[in-house]
Amino acid sequence: GSLRVRQDYMIAQGLLAPFEEGNEDDPRMLEMALARIRQLSAHEIGHTLGIFHNFAASVNGRESVMDYPHPKVDIKNGELDLSDAYDVGIGDWDIVTIKFGYQDFPNGINEKEALNKILEAAHLDGLKYISDSDARPQGGAHPYAHLWEYGNDPATQLSHILEVRKIALDNFGEANIRKGTSMSELEDVLVPIYLFHRYQLEGTVKLIGGLDYYYKLRGDNQPNPEIVDAATQRKALNEMLKAIDAKVLAIPENLLDLIPTRPAGISSSRELFSGNTGPSLDALGIAETAAELSVSLILNPQRANRLVEYGARDNNLTLKETIDELMESSWNKKKERGYLGSIQDVVNSVVTKNLIELHASGQSNPLTKAIVASELIKLSQMLSERSNDPMALHASMMIDSYLDDPSEFEAPRTLSAPPGSPIGSGPMFYCEF
Ligand SMILES: [Zn+2]
Repeated sequence: GSLRVRQDYMIAQGLLAPFEEGNEDDPRMLEMALARIRQLSAHEIGHTLGIFHNFAASVNGRESVMDYPHPKVDIKNGELDLSDAYDVGIGDWDIVTIKFGYQDFPNGINEKEALNKILEAAHLDGLKYISDSDARPQGGAHPYAHLWEYGNDPATQLSHILEVRKIALDNFGEANIRKGTSMSELEDVLVPIYLFHRYQLEGTVKLIGGLDYYYKLRGDNQPNPEIVDAATQRKALNEMLKAIDAKVLAIPENLLDLIPTRPAGISSSRELFSGNTGPSLDALGIAETAAELSVSLILNPQRANRLVEYGARDNNLTLKETIDELMESSWNKKKERGYLGSIQDVVNSVVTKNLIELHASGQSNPLTKAIVASELIKLSQMLSERSNDPMALHASMMIDSYLDDPSEFEAPRTLSAPPGSPIGSGPMFYCEF
């Protein structure tokens, strides 16, 4: 719990750049952190009363304290507003669970029927319930079961979160830390802002190859499972691809110029960016970390297998079309010069590596492997002709070397993102707040 509060305080500090003068007291950060503790207290009391997580509550308008909430950031006149960061009080789903679990019925009432009526009424009210095992996996299919996000539409919500992130990055600078703090510690505040969209990516990607389903019982009023419609899947893919645009991935150069290496006495930590440039911030490595988050989610093997199946069954988005769109956002995109061009190289490299890994994965079924193999062969041929593009030639060599002997091939290691949520996951009642 205390870690979450510290993390929230830091997020608010990164979003608001509150120290214009240098050391003023801005109550908004403390207010947001306290609102978080209030919400967390209600959540843990919920567990004490026997209630499971409900990770589909945030799409219902924050209807349960048993979800994991992301701070809600509004944009007002171009400025970030945290005044409604966390909901107050319990939600409609929480009332349903307490009624279901604790209500005494008068004599003569058929308890089972009465309990079923509570759940049927909840469904008619539009309340959804999806718990841990469907919400946590990276290959998850449920379009509304996500941790650490908010908003009614996961596809459009990513646009909003990227806009919030852009405003915060544009405003980022000295005013994000107190006067007298080591300038190197700007990095600590920058990490959660740069990766501000990471959980929304995990939410939005579940629409791609997504399956909308309920924990249905025979005879109840809940619908059967349904493949997410093609337009929604395509919209989600389009949004996901915006997150690998070089302009989105580039840490602004004025920030790179502002953040020195850490002095003796202020040690590094695992909550900072990792990199391969020695003491200085690894701008290209950081871009790689963020590109990897998006691309590895899109090309998750379980998701790819579903795209193959749903595309065949439902005239829906296919794996082939998904890879084609990825190509349009990477190798087929016109490359800028300079810094942005180098970031584009990073994205192109990440896409190639993830295609190889999808082909190599033991989870990919033969149909998925066949489609990816044919795309890799085509890509290698195309890249081998780009004689004045070193990254293209390198990627072509990498693909050929993999296809020549997959068992001997070692994919390049990507830098991993610092942890964002507390570590660990487990059975239903394990709470990792
Ligand atoms: Zn919990």
